[in-house]
Amino acid sequence: MRNWEQYVRRVVPYTPGEQPNRPGMIKLNTNENPYPPAPGVQQALRELDAGSFRLYPDPAASELIDALADYYGKEQERFFVGVGSDDVIAMAFQTFFNSEKPILFPDISYSFYSVWAELFGIPYRRPALDEKLCLVKKDYFAENGGIIFPNPNAPTGIYMELCEVEEIIARNPDSVVIVDEAYVDFAGPSAMSLVDKYDNLLVVQTFSKSRSMAGMRIGFAYGQPELIRYLNDVKYSFNSYTMNLPSLKLGTAALKDRAYFEETVGKIKATRERVKRELSALGFAFPDSGANFIFASHKSCPAKELFEALKEQNIYVRYFASPRIDNYLRITVGTDEEMDVLLKFLKSYLRE
Ligand code: PMP
Repeated sequence: MRNWEQYVRRVVPYTPGEQPNRPGMIKLNTNENPYPPAPGVQQALRELDAGSFRLYPDPAASELIDALADYYGKEQERFFVGVGSDDVIAMAFQTFFNSEKPILFPDISYSFYSVWAELFGIPYRRPALDEKLCLVKKDYFAENGGIIFPNPNAPTGIYMELCEVEEIIARNPDSVVIVDEAYVDFAGPSAMSLVDKYDNLLVVQTFSKSRSMAGMRIGFAYGQPELIRYLNDVKYSFNSYTMNLPSLKLGTAALKDRAYFEETVGKIKATRERVKRELSALGFAFPDSGANFIFASHKSCPAKELFEALKEQNIYVRYFASPRIDNYLRITVGTDEEMDVLLKFLKSYLRE
């Protein structure tokens, strides 16, 4: 070992889903939206002037924050933006999870949480989901240094009703509760409506899924102004210019078209419900998903085998070789045509 290596911070990094770029592939492995962003985004892209890149972007991201405030009908001081919700959540971990007590998140959940906790040296505990893969509310009534969970949960897709989310927040007035709503637009009401009532609640959302902009890296947090101020203090102590100029402009444009957003989200939900019926008929079981993916397990064919067979066909889904979930495939909801190709292949493969 070289001498300097003793000072290296060693971490086991998060493994993102594969990003293959093969002609004709059907990419259902990282929960991207199969539809393009709102037409106004393309227009805003055409209007971008490379000359403007000479200057630093607005560190306060005011244009995007104003657009969010308009869209949700709330004050600007309640919003914080970052480079995807990954950046926002990482910043929130650094800001709010600074206790000796462990933070809590489910054992089966977004696998980045434990990576950030390890990186920042935050103690954590992962209460187990029950046998139906549901979060056990009372596990979150124990003493803790903070709480985070996705709703809908990932990779299960299960949406927890708002009254249950509220109970977790209400029972933890002494710690910050982060509700990661990456997929909420495909499910039910957002916990944003609870922010007026709870000063310890931070809701995080993203433009990567329901707004078809994973490539632009835009995420945001919504909470009472005091929480947002603390977040900004950490952001400005780390990197003042997290959001680049194109992301600020194009994110703003995306928010202007509510009708397009509702239409594409509606289409994905309709496709999801149809695919659920067809997967059931093929012998798959899955928790009832409120997200833009289905977490499915086949009654006789191992998930790993199906994952490999699909890949041979240039169809990418996600497989996690982790305890309790290693017999499931997480299948992103694509277009109807893409899902038809997937279903057709599964039908013939499972019949053989
Ligand atoms: N939270 C959850 C639960 C996710 O699945 C993802 C997507 N990988 C993210 C946050 C981060 O998404 P993004 O950084 O693209 O906003």
